[in-house]
Amino acid sequence: MPVTTPSRRMELPIVLRKLDVMRTHDVTPRMRRITVAGDQLGSFESGGRTLPAFTTAGCDDYVKLFLAEPGHDPVLPEQHDGHLHWPKKPAPLARTYTVRRFDADAGELDLDFVLHGHGVAGNWARAARPGDVLHLAGPKISTVPPTGVDWWLLAGDDTALPAIARFVESAPGVPVHAAVLVESADEEQRDLPGVTWVHRQAGVPDARVLADAARSIAPDTGQAWMWIAGETGVVRELRSVAKTLGIGKPMLDASGYWRSPDTQRPLGRLLAMREEARESLDVRRRTRVPRTAD
Ligand SMILES: Cc1cc2nc3c(=O)[nH]c(=O)nc-3n(C[C@H](O)[C@H](O)[C@H](O)COP(=O)(O)OP(=O)(O)OC[C@H]3O[C@@H](n4cnc5c(N)ncnc54)[C@H](O)[C@@H]3O)c2cc1C
Repeated sequence: MPVTTPSRRMELPIVLRKLDVMRTHDVTPRMRRITVAGDQLGSFESGGRTLPAFTTAGCDDYVKLFLAEPGHDPVLPEQHDGHLHWPKKPAPLARTYTVRRFDADAGELDLDFVLHGHGVAGNWARAARPGDVLHLAGPKISTVPPTGVDWWLLAGDDTALPAIARFVESAPGVPVHAAVLVESADEEQRDLPGVTWVHRQAGVPDARVLADAARSIAPDTGQAWMWIAGETGVVRELRSVAKTLGIGKPMLDASGYWRSPDTQRPLGRLLAMREEARESLDVRRRTRVPRTAD
């Protein structure tokens, strides 16, 4: 009987790199692949240090991208030995993206961006052209999948697709069942084996659509590992799917990748309401007609 070990984390030295956009390619209408390259993907010298070459070991390895509002330069962290120092004022504007592909021989790194229509990263990806500069750091942590399990269950929305794609492409002989939530049939990446595609439906919460799909593809027997990522509310619902399938915490890896305004925490929602109330009071005060003496 094989020994079952849960997934574990492996730390990598974090390095800040300056790279160039080589090309862009629309994998689907809402998913843009940006290929970056440059000398700093290899080992390089900076500030009197020899920094290691880029490496990626885990399928959900991610990097931090340092971006800027239009007309500004990005604020960058400082490279120290094995770690980065993040300035506070101004703080870097950083966003997190999965390493979709790294080819050390070609010296190329692919990142897949959901073009969701707003946000500094989404907008950067929409406008990116060959020759544009991109500063990134990482990966810092790699997930090492568990051993000895009978099957993997992967579930996520389109932001989790780059990681899910790497998992299905490189699963070490273990059966993989994956459910991915995308906008429509146009967004399916059909060359990926073993993926069940589900589409967002008007009037039905994304969480329910994906949870139903994940439940329906899970085998009835055997020891499983479940990996979940995507919008925070969707991930919360999928955690409860894991529970109903009898997948305990040691065999569950779940990460919220982004937060929809509809899924704010209750405290966040209360603070937002308080802020709105304060603003509307201020507006009323500012627009009040002064009383005149009669
Ligand atoms: C470990 C990790 C790996 C990730 N990998 C990827 C990846 O490979 N590809 C990828 O596309 N994303 C990935 N994400 C998610 C990505 O970091 C977020 O979507 C991020 O918020 C995008 O930044 P932004 O500047 O475009 O939008 P923000 O400025 O963060 O947000 C602006 C507005 O857009 C909304 N928004 C943000 N993301 C989405 C979305 N995907 N769909 C709809 N509305 C959205 C927000 O709710 C907010 O209202 C990953 C996140 C993590 C934590």
